[in-house]
Amino acid sequence: MKEDITTIPINDVFSVREGCPLCSMRNMLEARSTTYITGAAMMEPDVRIKTNEKGFCHRHFEMMLKCGTRLSNALILESHLDKIKNEFIPKTVSGKPDKKKIAAVRNLTKSCFCCEQVNWGMEHMFQTIFSSYTNDEQFRQLYNSQRFICMEHFSDLMTAAIAKGISGKMLPQFYADTSKLCGGYLESLKADVTHFCSMFDYRSKGQSWGNSKDSIERSIEFLTSDPVVDETKE
Ligand SMILES: [Zn+2]
Ligand SMILES: [Zn+2]
Repeated sequence: MKEDITTIPINDVFSVREGCPLCSMRNMLEARSTTYITGAAMMEPDVRIKTNEKGFCHRHFEMMLKCGTRLSNALILESHLDKIKNEFIPKTVSGKPDKKKIAAVRNLTKSCFCCEQVNWGMEHMFQTIFSSYTNDEQFRQLYNSQRFICMEHFSDLMTAAIAKGISGKMLPQFYADTSKLCGGYLESLKADVTHFCSMFDYRSKGQSWGNSKDSIERSIEFLTSDPVVDETKE
């Protein structure tokens, strides 16, 4: 699985230039992870031990339901529920609350096998981005031609870059370029939202909406790194 995760060609992802390229990368990794877990991994007992231990978050359960069969999801759930039932939340208890078991349940509510795989993959991809940015002028141009970088990935990328992901010599330029991609888009979003609000003023009657009509959805996508799904379309 780890080998698969690292084979995403960053040039291909960055060449699309449709939205945040790191959101696209994350989406690819999530699709791979959830397909793997409901497919090939079903036959690997050591993977099942890990998924029983980590569980899944709501987002990734939903993806697993979409890409896997109902039987494969049920088999994963069967052993996961069984472990929780036997080890952490038995039906009958007596005496003082078992702090260790309660803490284990708390950890379980916050952990996800797919999130861990995706995060591992993303950190690996960041390293590839840093080395391409440093050594490849063409990639640097491609990086700077992105439409935008969302807020979450600005934070993740810069945090990784500061933690010695990129050389001290390249760090100021990388910071400037990345801020331009994130902050530049933020500036245009803010202007579009302001324009949207102003269109409700009677003095704006007859004026053009410009790019402001979907500025709410685009702002939410920028802030949360997930597009707003329009349920009325389809
Ligand atoms: Zn993003
Ligand atoms: Zn998850």
